[in-house]
Amino acid sequence: MSNFIEISEVGPRDGLQSIKRIMPLAAKKAWIDAEAACGVPEIEVGSFVPPKLLPQLADTAELVAYARTIDRLKVAVLVPNLRGAEDAIKAGAHKITIPLSASETHSLANVNRTHVQMLDAVRAIVALIKTLPPAERPFFEGGISTAFGCTLEGQIPEAKILELASALMEAGCDEVGLSDTTGYATPGHVIALVQAVKAEVGEQNLTGLHLHNTRGLGLANVLAALDHGITTIDASLGGIGGCPFAPGASGNIVTEDLVFMLDAMGFETGIDLDALLKVRDIVTEALPGEPMYGFIPEAGLPKGYNLSGTA
Ligand code: ZN
Repeated sequence: MSNFIEISEVGPRDGLQSIKRIMPLAAKKAWIDAEAACGVPEIEVGSFVPPKLLPQLADTAELVAYARTIDRLKVAVLVPNLRGAEDAIKAGAHKITIPLSASETHSLANVNRTHVQMLDAVRAIVALIKTLPPAERPFFEGGISTAFGCTLEGQIPEAKILELASALMEAGCDEVGLSDTTGYATPGHVIALVQAVKAEVGEQNLTGLHLHNTRGLGLANVLAALDHGITTIDASLGGIGGCPFAPGASGNIVTEDLVFMLDAMGFETGIDLDALLKVRDIVTEALPGEPMYGFIPEAGLPKGYNLSGTA
């Protein structure tokens, strides 16, 4: 298992929240179903935000309940506050991530909360989780967003990221994550920040990165991260996604291209790439005309290339 890289599909959350049109619930279920059948181990199915803010994700509770019925699938969601966490727990999510924006300006624009208020919310969520029997407790991640820079504030000092990472762990998170919300990350920055945060909170308390491909460095950033102990990578099918509150940010790294790169390097993902490529049709049919990205889907596999597990 040491060369297993866990891919977390975030398209149904990060992708759909940045697209104005609403994907019908049936199509979302079909998408989640199909990706899980390809072997995708974790899917972020939605976000518990007020439907007024993101009507695209208003059916998150139904999706969590549905996704929970799929064998072996880890069902992840985003929550902005305690209220969202209550809903996520009620629905039965396996993993809850609360985004804490390293940029306080972005935090105020995004969720109208200061860092102090967000950390209070984190503590309240931890207290809520502790009231549950241990077997029913969701995994709780503090995700530091705009960790590699913010469209409003520019670069965030590393000291601020370290301070927030350690505050999240002290508040009781199971782990911290780093998110390149704006697509500003470069490989050198990824290495420096991953090393610094691991040194601050402990090697085992930072294992995941959320990357965007806004400036074309998504996969290069993944490689840099893999060399420094990162084992979970967020990606979205067709690279759909972005952040509605970070102007100009668009496109998660493409799940299909990520699976190909990892497969070619001998990493295990458990994902059947041929089958994954066919899942795109579900998204295209539900959201006709919506841009879908990806090199492997466009160009195909190299001649004679054998995907691992295929003859
Ligand atoms: Zn994102």
